Amino acid sequence: MMVSDRVELVGLLRQELEALMGEMGEARYRGRQVFQWVQARRALDTDAMTSMPRALRGILAERVRIGRPEAVHVQRARDGTRKYLFRLTDGEEIESVLIPDEGRLTACISTQVGCPLACRFCLTGLMGMRRNLFASEIVEQVLALQDGLELGERISNIVLMGMGEPLLNFPQVERALRILSDEYGANFSPRRITVSTAGHVPGIRKLAEADLGVNLAVSLSATTDDIRDQIMPINRRWAIAELLSACRAYPLPNRRRLTFEYVMLDEVNDSREDAHRLVRFLRGIRCKINLIPFNTAPDLPDRPSPRERVEAFQRILHDAGLTATIRESRGWEISAACGMLRIDAAKEKA
Ligand code: SAH
Repeated sequence: MMVSDRVELVGLLRQELEALMGEMGEARYRGRQVFQWVQARRALDTDAMTSMPRALRGILAERVRIGRPEAVHVQRARDGTRKYLFRLTDGEEIESVLIPDEGRLTACISTQVGCPLACRFCLTGLMGMRRNLFASEIVEQVLALQDGLELGERISNIVLMGMGEPLLNFPQVERALRILSDEYGANFSPRRITVSTAGHVPGIRKLAEADLGVNLAVSLSATTDDIRDQIMPINRRWAIAELLSACRAYPLPNRRRLTFEYVMLDEVNDSREDAHRLVRFLRGIRCKINLIPFNTAPDLPDRPSPRERVEAFQRILHDAGLTATIRESRGWEISAACGMLRIDAAKEKA
């Protein structure tokens, strides 16, 4: 919550602001007003909060800070995808992506600077782990992206699929999601928010208990522990069977489904046998499968599965009655696609 010596207003829950106002001898509803100014109207300082008494604005101004990450660089792909490089107050950098698609506008948000999980096919993993983001920094990505939109454009969906493993930063992620879904703030319905995990089993259980109502996506990407151990080292800690049993226990509201993401790697996880095993694993789980064509990069060892093999894989899933889509790669030429978010320390210094 504290990034500077002042309280980061963007990282406070509405209930905390109400309590804070109470402590200051003010009516609690003032807290709700401040929350609305910050989260719904995206005020950048207390002066803008014209419904608040001037004296109170002055007191608040001395105690709090309203932050935005600095947009160092914005790149736009031909398909409309935009990638933002944001610099945080301590100089660390993260990336966020805006993806327009059939009337939707999805914000893909980071939860950590770097990532400790080192999945073999992901560039963020090559950065290693630098630090967790604060809730304020997670929410500020959404606010800053929304600030930069044209009049009439509105972010409709949020996916925690940027840099980092959200469930390794659970308390700050939970706080950010409660702030973003508050009806007095940005008011994102939880059904328009998706948390994506590489398979952190205790985190999946905590997310279930927190009862936020958000969607869960699980990056599975293999059907044997042997292969998954190699490409996603987190599997050595929580193997496929344990992961699937945590998925089965995840409470799903009516008509909602889990998502399984599956990055298609040539001759690694893309055989017919893999597809048939996947069918067996997912029997009885209300889910859909998202097949992700592998985005290559010079520093990554794998090759993408040929399109015919991806389609053959999809057909086996379809024939077994499963819903499987092939995720169209977005923003590839600006390195904004899945697994391509990385801050290159060498390039930065140059
Ligand atoms: N740590 C979380 C959130 C990151 S989401 C998770 O693993 O789910 C990133 C998504 O992109 C994951 O589904 C991951 O499997 C996928 N991905 C990573 N690297 C990729 C690459 N090079 N090509 C295609 N998809 C990739």
